[in-house]
Amino acid sequence: KLGNETIKAELGRSTWKLLHTMTARFPLEPTSEERTALKQWITLLSRLYPCGECAEHFQVLLKQYPPQTSSRDAASQWACAVHNKVNERLEKPMFDCSLVADMYQCGCDEEEGSEEV
Ligand code: FAD
Repeated sequence: KLGNETIKAELGRSTWKLLHTMTARFPLEPTSEERTALKQWITLLSRLYPCGECAEHFQVLLKQYPPQTSSRDAASQWACAVHNKVNERLEKPMFDCSLVADMYQCGCDEEEGSEEV
C-alpha cells in the first residue's frame, strides 16, 4: 500500500510539472487553434489520467473551474489555482501562484527572458 501511494505521488508530481510547464510556456497571445488544443489536452488528460480516483475528482474540478486559455497568464494562473484546489483537498499547503512563471522553465531558449539553467 505504501508502494502504491509512492507511485501515485510520483505520477502526480510528474503530471503537475508537465501541466505547469506547458501553461508557463503557452503562447502569450494564443491562436484559436492553440486555445482549443490546450483545452482538449486538459479534458483528455482528465479522462485518461491513470489514477481513477484522481481523474474523477479532476473532472469535477474542471466543471467548476473550466480551463482558461485566453493567454499564457490566464492558463498558468488557472493551472496553479486548480492545483491549489487539489492541494486543499489533500491537506497540502497552498502554493503562491505569483511564482509559477519563473519556476516552470522548459529549457527551450528561443524565448526571450528564459535563462540557461
Ligand atoms: P505536488 O502536489 O505533486 O506538487 C509538486 C510540486 O509542485 C510541489 O512540490 C510544489 O513545488 C509545486 N506546486 C505545488 N502546488 C502548486 C501549484 N498550485 N501551482 C504550481 N506549482 C505547485 N493524489 C491523491 O492522493 N488523490 C487525488 O485525488 C489526486 N488527484 C490528482 C489529480 C491530478 C490531476 C493530479 C495531476 C494529481 C493528483 N493527485 C492526487 C496527486 C497529488 O496532487 C500530488 O501530485 C501527490 O500527492 C504528490 O504531492 P507532492 O506533495 O509531492 O506535491
